Amino acid sequence: MVADVDRWLPWAIGSVGLVLSTLAGWLVWTLVSAHHLAERRARQMTAELRASEAELARSNLELERFAYAASHDLQEPLRTIGNFVGLLDRRYGDQLDDDARQYIGLVVDGADRMAGLINDLLGYSRAGQVQRVEEVDLEETWQLATAALAAAIADADADVSAGPLPMVRGDGSRLVQVLQNLLSNALKYRTDGRVEVRCHARRVGDCWEVTVQDNGIGIDPAQFDEIFVMLRRLHTREEYPGTGMGLAIAKKIMEEGGGSIRVESEPGHGARFVLSLPATDVVDLRQVGPAGADQQEAVT
Ligand code: ADP
Repeated sequence: MVADVDRWLPWAIGSVGLVLSTLAGWLVWTLVSAHHLAERRARQMTAELRASEAELARSNLELERFAYAASHDLQEPLRTIGNFVGLLDRRYGDQLDDDARQYIGLVVDGADRMAGLINDLLGYSRAGQVQRVEEVDLEETWQLATAALAAAIADADADVSAGPLPMVRGDGSRLVQVLQNLLSNALKYRTDGRVEVRCHARRVGDCWEVTVQDNGIGIDPAQFDEIFVMLRRLHTREEYPGTGMGLAIAKKIMEEGGGSIRVESEPGHGARFVLSLPATDVVDLRQVGPAGADQQEAVT
């Protein structure tokens, strides 16, 4: 009996060992081939992703060129319509009845609105064109934006002010446009009380966060994304005039320049637009405290 066991035990151990090593070999082989397969698939997916990114960039560029050319070329016939309807009104206005004069008024109004839209579309395509990145003094930028809207600020008797603003990296003239768009919205989406607009800056890591805050009608958080979409408006033209392009242009300018824009608000409690802009390495003596400190409040 013992002799029997002695005979078959090494065979049994050997067989089990063989099965186990075959299994282990098979497992290793499976893992290695799965790894190779995953690597090959990942390489393939990366190549596909790069190709579709390049295709997307190409078609975006084409679309931008088309929007620019179309809006540019549309200006000319629109001017002709406006000019001739104006001429019609001046020359033959006294021979026309009230209805005809009202129709002329509607044509002029439509032409004006279309001119505004075309202008904004041009602004949108320009916002996508290569930006000049320079050191920008935001105090000057703010002054230029408020000067451009001086008449509207005076009309609204608005209280508009800014704390110390830093140097940032960006395209100066486009940043004027961003601030101008935010400021004119703050004047437009007002409540019955006196309009108050404040611009502040604070350092966050390598960026400056610049906020433009108003005390107007505010925005429902459910619509935060929507307001940055081209031609998207939350109100009718009768309630508030506009084309729905201002924030889309601002977003495009900010993102093309390596920054971002977001909004914080509640209906009835004003809106606070936050621009994030890359800081410059230039030491600005107006900065309060050591430059580069995280979360440093630069203004009060
Ligand atoms: P427009 O003002 O021409 O409609 P914008 O792109 O500038 O276009 O703004 C999009 C929408 O966002 C506006 O229709 C308005 O509803 C909302 N909005 C923008 N700014 C403000 C603000 N400061 N307060 C309240 N709502 C705002």
